[in-house]
Amino acid sequence: MDDDGGVAGRSGADAATPERAASAPDLPALDALVTTCRACPRLVAWRESVAREKRAAFRDETYWGRPVPGFGDPAAPVLVVGLAPAAHGANRTGRMFTGDRSGDFLFAALHRTGFASQPTGRRPDDGLVLTGVRLTAPVRCAPPANRPTPTERRTCGPFLGRELQLVAPSVIVVLGGFGWLATLSTLAEQGWSVPRPRPVFGHGAEVRVGHPDGRSLTLLGCFHVSQQNTFTGRLTPPMLDSVLLRAGELAGIRA
Ligand code: SF4
Repeated sequence: MDDDGGVAGRSGADAATPERAASAPDLPALDALVTTCRACPRLVAWRESVAREKRAAFRDETYWGRPVPGFGDPAAPVLVVGLAPAAHGANRTGRMFTGDRSGDFLFAALHRTGFASQPTGRRPDDGLVLTGVRLTAPVRCAPPANRPTPTERRTCGPFLGRELQLVAPSVIVVLGGFGWLATLSTLAEQGWSVPRPRPVFGHGAEVRVGHPDGRSLTLLGCFHVSQQNTFTGRLTPPMLDSVLLRAGELAGIRA
């Protein structure tokens, strides 16, 4: 264990707050802000205790143990929004969806559909390159039982809001109902014409929204790539491929 208790690096002294996200001039600045945030006491305690205690299989690794920034193409026309980092996945590796079964399922599909340079993504130094797609989450710290509270989602919201502005995708693939509501709320806050009542989440749901400045984008609903869904067959590889291919088609980057 290193001097920092097994965590890749942490400091309360220079911690960012989500309110500063709006002033980030670009994605590297936003990502740097995200990784120093300590705004949610419950999540800070959890992410760091998991990083100290570790899973036996990873006991020789130094966990990231911090908020996880988005990963992928900075000019992606397709943004994939999940839920939150997994305790022993992205909270260990520091790269979104990297190092767990959910990521294995997602990266294989991204490779089959032409968005990823290789079918696996298990370590930040594995050479994986995403083209046309960026992966992110409405909550950047691993939550206990994969369940952030509504307050934690709202607290973290400015990071997703600023990422949406900087990436400016034309398609957002949303994995699961939590991310669906978070994304719709963020878009509504930014003036997008999100219908009321809010469109209901479902696998294959497709919602087009416009902005007063003339832009438009499409949200695509997809069951989350969690083991709960993939091990039970609720979400199969062809189902995920179909949503990703539709995203590519809408974004104009697939035939
Ligand atoms: S969940 Fe978001 S707002 Fe809360 S501590 Fe993590 S990065 Fe900060």
